[in-house]
Amino acid sequence: MIYQNTLEFAESLDARDSLSHFRNEFLIPQHNGEDSIYLCGNSLGLQPKSTEKYLEAQLGAWKDLAVEGWFQGDDPWLQFHHQLKQPLANLTGAKTDEVTVMNSLTVNLHLLLVSFYQPSNKRYKILMEGGAFPSDQYAIESQVNFHGFEPEKAIIEVFPREGEHILRTEDIISAIEQNADELALVLFAGVNYYTGQVFDMEAIAKAGHEAGAYVGFDLAHAVGNVPLLLHDWGADFACWCSYKYMNSGPGGISGIFVHEKHFNSPDLKRFAGWWGYRPDKRFLMAPGFKPANGAEGWQVSTSPILLMSAHKAALDIFEKAGGLGKLRQKSILLTGYLEYLILEINQKHGEELFAIITPSDPNIRGCQLSVICKRNGKAIFNYLAENGIIGDWRQPDVIRLSPVPLYNSFKDVYKAAMHLDMSLVVSE
Ligand SMILES: *Cc1c(COP(=O)(O)O)cnc(C)c1O
Repeated sequence: MIYQNTLEFAESLDARDSLSHFRNEFLIPQHNGEDSIYLCGNSLGLQPKSTEKYLEAQLGAWKDLAVEGWFQGDDPWLQFHHQLKQPLANLTGAKTDEVTVMNSLTVNLHLLLVSFYQPSNKRYKILMEGGAFPSDQYAIESQVNFHGFEPEKAIIEVFPREGEHILRTEDIISAIEQNADELALVLFAGVNYYTGQVFDMEAIAKAGHEAGAYVGFDLAHAVGNVPLLLHDWGADFACWCSYKYMNSGPGGISGIFVHEKHFNSPDLKRFAGWWGYRPDKRFLMAPGFKPANGAEGWQVSTSPILLMSAHKAALDIFEKAGGLGKLRQKSILLTGYLEYLILEINQKHGEELFAIITPSDPNIRGCQLSVICKRNGKAIFNYLAENGIIGDWRQPDVIRLSPVPLYNSFKDVYKAAMHLDMSLVVSE
């Protein structure tokens, strides 16, 4: 696509966008009586208009049926999670039984590590991306401590090369190979939260398995953003949250993937609870844990139905959009347009005022662009916020902007870039 730096051009792309009507399905925060330009779906996705109705339906079932809501009504709560599995399997490239919803992300990471990080004195190391999301770092560090190993020895972080922002796949693979004999686990994000880089999950899974390690992915920034093929890639496990690109509400219920090759692995320990028990026998309340088949066998607690209904509202929109296919095509154009406009600003001013650290190859990035402000970053960010452009700020000098194909328009992107340009004058 050859882009143009005009409002008319942005509007013409919106007019041709077959997904543009999905914007009307979301509640967009207002700024001075107009829609703000919300480019923060990487942090908290917008609320679907339908969420309230989905929640009301379950509040109604609670009101009318009370405890019988588990068994009666339009969506008996005991089976409610089944409605979420197919749409999640579609977004993650999983088989239906390989996914389920439960708890929240970091909790699930811990629960999955109980199964997939079982270090021995020989194999105890975890290899991960340097600069992973802090919660993942803390989770890994505490798991290593829990098993009596030293984080400094057990955790191997792979960083970009000197002067680079993006991790090279070849460097990840060679780090795996170098540590092959001692690796228990390779844990990577699907998309790095800071740079927006999409990792080559297929290559990482292959190399990790050749080294004899388990391979897991944290897909917080990947699900609902970029295409995933967890089953075919052979990932052992994955987890994600639902409140970023999946628009399911702050602290919403999270999801897990466990590959079907592990469904009958008796050596996989787990921390169990009654909601992971075989559903046909759960209410016999018998002693001795017998896991449900599939990812459901990792469930622990009673389904949080209100969170699940908010999740359902959001996933139904993805289903209506036909999954990620067309959304991803639009996303590539939308983020590409933002990139083009930012580079135009640099060109106009004759210097690189904004350095984009996100990969320029659309195949290895999603919605997000992470932009280093060479000067006055915080003032620029504040100027954007005062003008209704909502991105987010990461110390020391990065603004993350994420145009989301479900609810952002090309006009949003145009206006955001226009304000970014204007901010330069004001922030001097
Ligand atoms: C957003 C995010 C989290 C947040 O975890 P919660 O348990 O939901 O607070 C964790 N890890 C990654 C990689 C994230 O992007």
